[in-house]
Amino acid sequence: MDNHLRSQSLLMSQDVRKLQAQLDGLIQIAKNNEAKQANFQKYELSLLNCSDLFELFTIILEQHKEKFQLTEVTLLLHDPEYEFRRLVESRTTPPPWRKRLLFKENLQSINQYFTIQRKPRLSEFSLHQHQHLFLDNDTLRSVALLPLVRQNRLIGSLNLGSRKPDRFQANIGTQFLQHLAAVVSACIENARLQEQIKQVGLRDPLTGVNNRRFFDQRIEEEVNRAQRSKTPLSCLFIDLDHFKRVNDNHGHQAGDAVLKQTAHILDDSMRTSDVLARYGGEEFVCLLADTTNADAEDFANRIREKIADTNFQITPSTTLNMTLSVGLATLETNSAIRNSKQLIHAADQAVYAAKISGRNRVHKAK
Ligand code: GH3
Ligand code: MG
Ligand code: MG
Repeated sequence: MDNHLRSQSLLMSQDVRKLQAQLDGLIQIAKNNEAKQANFQKYELSLLNCSDLFELFTIILEQHKEKFQLTEVTLLLHDPEYEFRRLVESRTTPPPWRKRLLFKENLQSINQYFTIQRKPRLSEFSLHQHQHLFLDNDTLRSVALLPLVRQNRLIGSLNLGSRKPDRFQANIGTQFLQHLAAVVSACIENARLQEQIKQVGLRDPLTGVNNRRFFDQRIEEEVNRAQRSKTPLSCLFIDLDHFKRVNDNHGHQAGDAVLKQTAHILDDSMRTSDVLARYGGEEFVCLLADTTNADAEDFANRIREKIADTNFQITPSTTLNMTLSVGLATLETNSAIRNSKQLIHAADQAVYAAKISGRNRVHKAK
């Protein structure tokens, strides 16, 4: 081979090596992307499989950060009727959520972060602009704010923060983040609707108080709690006296009006830790946590007097007076009552005794 050919083949083999190295690099990037894609798909599936709002918050606020190596993840939700907040307050939430799960009554305060197109906003962290979205922000250097939109309505924003300055930059493509925001929005909306359905199933439509199904679930929890903490749990069975006469004399709409007003009065008399439910027809039941038999008796007499003093409005021009009878039983350490079934049975027997001994009275189970 002459010199010219030799040097040419040397150059070619150098080119081939360079190309090979480039190709290896590209293959590595493709593999990384594939791994990222698989990681995201797994995460997406866990979101889509979740119909419980609380569980969904757990995935977003706890797992998201680890999965995508972020420094902070916060979720801001439009909550004009305190729906999300009520749900969160009804459960025990991990303390860090206080800074990660944020609510706003007013849409304007979420809208201010986005343009009309509602595209993700990637930028460096600015204390002035972002401090209300990231309450823990000492180490943040770049952020991505993802608008959550459902049916053209802004429902909140998912906020990702990184300590790396180059993690979120304005010129980075946002297709992936837009997709993530769409999935999160759909999942939140779906879980919220599921929660509403659950609530409806546990509420009495006429009076708006809890229904028997709810009560049957709660009494188990309350009995367990009382036994664990060795505190008394009192149960009241409340039955309106001669209620049938209201229907017979004034029609069932008058009966309905009496039931609604009774529920309202009972509900107003309860502490937040008490449980009130409509047990059936004209019977209500009430669980008083950490309440002795004597205190529950005083409470029962107060509501009995309140009802007897009420003028029930059944038409704009007619009022009625009603009375009720109460059966009281208490589960306490050393009492014969040991479980929910016995507690209900004892209170039910006691209200029966109140009826036969003359009505408009409180009778205590023996
Ligand atoms: P007592 O003093 O012994 O409790 O007599 P009562 O008339 O209150 O009890 P009874 O069990 O005989 O009658 C209850 C009535 O409540 C019968 C039923 O038609 C009526 N009722 C049950 N649910 C409803 C309701 O949702 N609306 C109306 N208007 N009436 C109802
Ligand atoms: Mg009855
Ligand atoms: Mg009755």
